[in-house]
Amino acid sequence: MAGARASRRSIAIVGAGWSGLACALSLARAGYAPVVFESAPEPGGRARRAKIDGTFRDNGQHLILAGCQALTTLFEAIGLSLPRAPFAFKGDGRGLSLVNRRGRFGLVLALCRAPGFNMKERWALVRALLVLQRRRWQVSEAQTVAQWLKTQQQPPALIKHFWAPLALAILNTPIEVAAMSRLAPVLRDTLGRGAAALEILQPTADLSASVVTAMVRDLEAQGGQMHCGQRVTGVRALPDGRHALSLQHAQMPTMVDDVVLAVPPWSLAHIDLPFDPTLLIEAFGVQPIATVYLGFEDSVHLPTPLMQLAGPTEADARIWAMDRAHCGEPGVIALSLSADGPWTQLDHDQLAQQCLRQLEASLATRLHAHWHKVVMVHKATPSMTPQAKISAAHRHPLPGLWLLGDWTHPVYPATLEAAVAAGLALTEEIIASDS
Ligand SMILES: Cc1cc2nc3c(=O)[nH]c(=O)nc-3n(C[C@H](O)[C@H](O)[C@H](O)COP(=O)(O)OP(=O)(O)OC[C@H]3O[C@@H](n4cnc5c(N)ncnc54)[C@H](O)[C@@H]3O)c2cc1C
Repeated sequence: MAGARASRRSIAIVGAGWSGLACALSLARAGYAPVVFESAPEPGGRARRAKIDGTFRDNGQHLILAGCQALTTLFEAIGLSLPRAPFAFKGDGRGLSLVNRRGRFGLVLALCRAPGFNMKERWALVRALLVLQRRRWQVSEAQTVAQWLKTQQQPPALIKHFWAPLALAILNTPIEVAAMSRLAPVLRDTLGRGAAALEILQPTADLSASVVTAMVRDLEAQGGQMHCGQRVTGVRALPDGRHALSLQHAQMPTMVDDVVLAVPPWSLAHIDLPFDPTLLIEAFGVQPIATVYLGFEDSVHLPTPLMQLAGPTEADARIWAMDRAHCGEPGVIALSLSADGPWTQLDHDQLAQQCLRQLEASLATRLHAHWHKVVMVHKATPSMTPQAKISAAHRHPLPGLWLLGDWTHPVYPATLEAAVAAGLALTEEIIASDS
């Protein structure tokens, strides 16, 4: 992060998701005094705890891998060290285990021995990764994941049990329309860097307690301010170059030099802005994610940190399950359902029952769930299609006005890594423009 320097411009950040917080924190560390306005009662945006039926629970199961460089930089800066678990998953006889595997060689060995996949499938997987590596992880921006898999002649079982669930979890967009150019950088930073990059960073409590609170504490310690429950309704550019920020619960506007709009594209539609965001909003679209929490006896746990199960309906792609024991919830299993698909037609009880059935089938045992809770986020991420792009000029639509969020990262898909990397990069841009 940038070193300390004298503050020049006053900066307001609209939105306390991970992108806004990362930007605010790095600006504060660089000597600015950013003020963050968040409409929700708590910071953290789409990656935080929420009170659901009287219990605090993450609003979605998040997976963070050690290869996420911006996230690990941020965690180091705020003195946060999350325990690591080796990447390993099982699912209906197939799987991959990096337990006791080291480096790139260890990863290749694990891929070559992945249980349940035949020799042809294993070789096709390694060959496709080698092709990507040889091409420096660059692919055509117009190509979808499904098209790329076809050009690489990936066998159907490998697509069904490896590529499709992986791509869906990373891109939250059906592989038929998802951009391969968004998947390739994640493959580069994980599978391309060896076993350690795939280690799972495991929060020891909910996301707010284990990460978001630490970010806000550091921000305030460095002189930044955080205001929750403060919806920004409008931003006006003033003739003197400053900006007037209208707040829902304030009579007078707040005057600042710069405004960072750290909100998703769909939220721009609800702010009165001095530019028209319609084309941007349309280019990105939205995709849902549901998290099905199932509560069992404390002794129920998954055999590997991740498990892959059949989807809730036959037409759905395979889904991922994670054990919540590491974050203080023994006996709680979280299942993630990504992107629009047939599962969205089921009501919450049907979804939970179907997921329970698939979990029982995968573990080959009968289970008794004491409770279930489905957290449905209709606007979970933008659609990562080839059309979902934002140019450098659009990220900075007017002097002193900056757009930020997981969706503004030039190459990464809309994830926590993209949000934080975009936040840290924007700080560098603001500092450069201030000299
Ligand atoms: C269920 C679910 C599961 C996910 N799983 C993963 C995962 O496993 N791994 C991963 O890397 N990513 C995952 N993601 C994506 C990840 O959560 C997002 O990429 C990331 O949180 C986006 O951060 P952000 O700062 O860009 O946006 P947000 O988190 O959306 O932050 C924007 C903030 O702006 C606030 N806001 C909006 N309008 C206004 C306004 N007018 N005034 C003031 N404040 C405003 C919002 O309340 C919000 O807090 C998941 C997302 C969901 C929903």
